[in-house]
Amino acid sequence: MELYKLTIHEANKLLSNREISAKQLAESVLKRIEEIEGKVNAFNTITAEEALKNADAIDKLIQQGEEISPLAGIPMGVKDNICTSGIKTTCSSKMLENFVPPYDATVIERLNTHNAILVGKLNMDEFAMGSSTENSAFKNTRNPWSLERVPGGSSGGSAASVIAGQALFSLGSDTGGSIRQPAAFCGLVGLKPTYGRVSRYGLVALASSFDVVGPITKDVTDCAIVLNVIAGRDVKDVTTADKPVDDYRTALKDDVKGMKIGIPKGFLDKGLDSEVRTSIHQAIKLYEKLGAELIEIDLPHAEYALPVYYIIACAEASSSLARYDGIRYGYRADDYDDLEELYKKTRSQAFGSEVKRRIMLGNFVIGADYYEDYYLKALKVRTLIREDYAKAFEKVDVILSPTTPTSAFKIGEKREPMDMYLSDIYTVPVNIAGLPAISIPCGFDANGLPIGLQLIGDLFEEKKLLQAAYTFEQNTDYHKKEPIL
Ligand code: GLN
Repeated sequence: MELYKLTIHEANKLLSNREISAKQLAESVLKRIEEIEGKVNAFNTITAEEALKNADAIDKLIQQGEEISPLAGIPMGVKDNICTSGIKTTCSSKMLENFVPPYDATVIERLNTHNAILVGKLNMDEFAMGSSTENSAFKNTRNPWSLERVPGGSSGGSAASVIAGQALFSLGSDTGGSIRQPAAFCGLVGLKPTYGRVSRYGLVALASSFDVVGPITKDVTDCAIVLNVIAGRDVKDVTTADKPVDDYRTALKDDVKGMKIGIPKGFLDKGLDSEVRTSIHQAIKLYEKLGAELIEIDLPHAEYALPVYYIIACAEASSSLARYDGIRYGYRADDYDDLEELYKKTRSQAFGSEVKRRIMLGNFVIGADYYEDYYLKALKVRTLIREDYAKAFEKVDVILSPTTPTSAFKIGEKREPMDMYLSDIYTVPVNIAGLPAISIPCGFDANGLPIGLQLIGDLFEEKKLLQAAYTFEQNTDYHKKEPIL
């Protein structure tokens, strides 16, 4: 078997037993990148030379008989909005095309301590705004299951690279679905941790009250392994929770007997593709067969989630993006007469149209005239949505829904922003409430495209999610399928 096809836990076993070397593993992944990157377009930057050097260093550790971390020597890709010291972090924007951060994000620091090996930075929607990676200023990443389709977004490069074998796992960020939606479109496991479980230090902000970093992996075991390393309090991010980190691997049990699974009333009635609906119904039946108890729940304010999300996310984005003024870092227009013109030209030239749309929307909803009608109202509904979930979790352990209303759509198919926004309908409510959620593969449609199942947990209940996800995986084969490239 080609080494790039391994999961993290399989590779770790072979590395620990010295059946393969970290160098061989890195070489296999780098060769795979060389062979198929022309088709997939997942990477903005490839760090082949450093990867091989790091692999050599890890092989030395192994030879010296040191006990290694489950992530030691494992090739990983990182979304290009997570800062990597000395390596470009572009957010797939002309604004940051040549930005080289002088420091590592906390998640990168932790992965480095565990000797994971960075193979490159991954394409995304500009500043993580989008659901298809078509908003990248640089290129369209393609879905390895069908090259004329999108890989999802905004972490499209993160998902495409893993299913294509260009990395054993990747990091994405999720503000309204950007880990789960591309994971679903590419047939992978994607976890959005509880807000505050994983440090945002060094993650370029989109909407700070929603943003969270998380793993995209080939299976649930790998997901637990990565979460073990990146989760936890960080003094550099005051929104991280001061709660001990569980060993998430202890949740990997094939057992849902007596587990209470909530099915939101009306979620499967309309607005979703019939093949997605069928797969979700089959998943529900399987859980029932495995001994879970299914309970209908009510999320009465979920229908307002999309407008609430876009009002708050745009308001926060317009403020996060104010720092790109052409003065401190990033792009600067080269022809201007005064400071005001410098600002205007810099921002007009370097931001793409989706970014501009959101800055304008954001400034509109927090402007003095409309603040109460839009922003303040959205904050109030946000509280109601949170309360809906809190009430539901008095009765259930996890909530089940589709991850997306359709499977991967064609590149260029969704021209209207509203059409694109609707693909987040099942994922954004979760970010509004700050809850953890995982997407796992639960089927394929008639075009051979993967379908994702979303499981949502109560705050800091990642273990329950992982156990429910692991059980599903143990009793199905969807995660074992691979695209032919
Ligand atoms: N697609 C959503 C948006 O465009 C979510 C993006 C994200 O999670 N980064 O805002």
